[in-house]
This record gives sequence, structure tokens and C-alpha cells, in this order.
Amino acid sequence: MRYVRDNIDRLAAYTPGEQPVRTDVVKLNTNENPYPPTQAVMRAIAAVSPDQLRRYPSPQATTFRKAAAEVHDVQPTQIIATNGGDELLRMVMTAFCQPHPQGGRGVGVASPSYSLYPVLAEIHETSVTVVPLNDDFSIPADFATRLNDTACGLAMLVNPHAPSGRFQPIDQLAEIARSFNGVLLIDEAYVDFAQSDALSLVRGESAMKNVVILRTLSKGYSLAGLRFGYGVAHASLIEALDKIRDSYNTDAVSQAAAVAALQSRADASQSWKKVIDERQRMTHELKALGFAVLPSASNFVLASPTPGGLAAADIYRSLKDRGIFVRYFDQDRLRDKLRITIGTPQQNDALLAGIKSLETSSV
Ligand SMILES: *Cc1c(COP(=O)(O)O)cnc(C)c1O
Repeated sequence: MRYVRDNIDRLAAYTPGEQPVRTDVVKLNTNENPYPPTQAVMRAIAAVSPDQLRRYPSPQATTFRKAAAEVHDVQPTQIIATNGGDELLRMVMTAFCQPHPQGGRGVGVASPSYSLYPVLAEIHETSVTVVPLNDDFSIPADFATRLNDTACGLAMLVNPHAPSGRFQPIDQLAEIARSFNGVLLIDEAYVDFAQSDALSLVRGESAMKNVVILRTLSKGYSLAGLRFGYGVAHASLIEALDKIRDSYNTDAVSQAAAVAALQSRADASQSWKKVIDERQRMTHELKALGFAVLPSASNFVLASPTPGGLAAADIYRSLKDRGIFVRYFDQDRLRDKLRITIGTPQQNDALLAGIKSLETSSV
């Protein structure tokens, strides 16, 4: 007797980066911010009252929507709060895609990209149109046309791109949104480490009606453990997404923390600056060790070791043996590369020393 729905039975689940139980490791594998959350966030969590826990939370996270609207210069009706950015990814698929027997309204993704996207498509039994990125990880000029050809209802692009860190200029994303017949989700999980963002596309009278911007507090605000993200879009799309939200999808503690996080943005941005400085340094240092490193607008770099030297997979395993975790993807176009999260200067130095020790021990 098989109890599980066929597509779920077949499903290869998303594999997150390893979260080792040991705390004495140098953890540069899941793009967490190496600095603590702001003090305002910690105070807000400590100030949560027994009554706030006894009662159900605000279903729509009303206070948060107001705070986010203020910070981003949009209306509160343009914000939806979600249980991590990942919940928003699931929600856009439920709202804008159709299961394949009905045809059309599948999802279009670029490859390589966030490996959760195709897993969500499989769960929703919706078809996936995969468009390979150019060699430099830029988005091909015919991206929207190719998605229109297969009648996609949704496109998902991550900017700055993961796992390359490449920043796609916003006017090119706007052009894709204009040409595309479905909804474009712009995943800005790493935007706090970049120079600009796509919010202008959803702001004011000329706001595009087919763009959803994903934000998360996991990376920029050092709150991956809290699980809080949000979407910014034209109110008509937010209304649709709101219909399919779990009744209480974000909890009272995380709502309080999220409001404090956005309101202490200036403090949080201190950590962004430190990460950006270290990103420059690490790019330079890794290049000096013979790696090819792509320019990154994110809190990680994608680095390829010298061809003919130690393979990326071997470096990954040997570093892990030394208690240094980076991310290795055993898939096309990434197999010869390592994705390295930017840590504190001390963590980054430990990584560089680890790599140097491999080189000497392999001679
Ligand atoms: C981290 C991340 C998210 C969202 O993560 P949450 O922790 O669920 O908020 C979304 N997209 C990409 C590409 C990410 O790396």
C-alpha cells in the first residue's frame, strides 16, 4: 500500500547546507551573517509579554506591514509578511502556477540558481522551463520570450544572483517584467550587500502589476533562526497572496523582532559594510591563491581553484575535516567551484590558512 502522493513519493527534497551540531567550526557554508542581530531586536524579543504569547498574533502582521511600508516608501497594502522568504516562494507558486495536466502557467527559472525553486515546482506539479544563464551568469536577452513560449505564469530570478553573486542591472529586470506575460518574482535575499534594489519597480503610480520582490531578514539582519521574510508588490498581487496565507503564518515573537530589525536598519547596515569590506579582501586573497573569483554583490563569493590543482570537491572535503565548512554543489557548472560565505576577518583568515595548509600537504 502506498500512501504518499506520486509526485511527493518521487520528490528529491531540497538539501540545505549542513548545520553541524558542533559550534567550534568555521561555518562559511549557508550565507549566514557572521555578526549578531541588532540590540534593538534582542530587546524587542525580551520585551514580548506573556499576554502577547497567550493571544494569537496579528494575522497580517499589521504593525510590521506599516514599518516595512515606511522603510521602503510603499503602502502597507503592498507588503505581505511570511515565515521566512521560503514561504513566499511557495506562496507565489501556489498563487500564480497551475498543475501541468491543465497546461500552461508553469514556472520559469534560470540555471544554475536557488535549488529550492524546482523542488517547489515538483511539489506543485507545475512544469518548469529552465533557461541556462550565460557563461558570466548574466540572464540571456531572450529569457522572457522563452518563458512566454511555454506560457509560464511565473518567473523566478534571484538578484544578486545565487550562487554566483552577480548583480543584474535593475533596468534589465524591468525589461524582463515588461516583456513577460506572467508574474516576475525577484528574489532579493542578498540585496542588503548590493548597491541598489528593484523596489522602484513596485513604487508609486507607475508600479508594475506583475512584479513581486522577496526580502528576508535571514541574511542582512542576522536572523536566519527567526524565520521572517516578506514580499513587496502591487496591492493587487498582495491581495491574491494574502488569500492563500496560513491564518497565522508569522508569530508574535518574530513580528516584534522584525519590526525592531527594520527600525534599527542603520545599526544592521554596520554589519553589511564589514561584510562588503571583507568580500573585497577575500576576493583579492583567494585570487592570490590561484582561484578565479567572480565579482560578487552578495555576502558570499563563488571561487574556482586553479585547473590542474586540487579539485573543488577535494578542497571542500579536506576543509571540512579541518572544521571549516564551505558549500559545494555537485551539479553542472558548479562542480569545479566553491561557494564561500564571507565571515568575520578571523573566520576568513582561518579559511585562507586552511586552504594554504592543503596546498603544502598535497605537494
Ligand atoms: C536565503 C535565501 C532565501 C530566503 O531564505 P529564508 O531564510 O527562508 O528567508 C531566498 N532565496 C535565496 C536565494 C536565499 O539564498
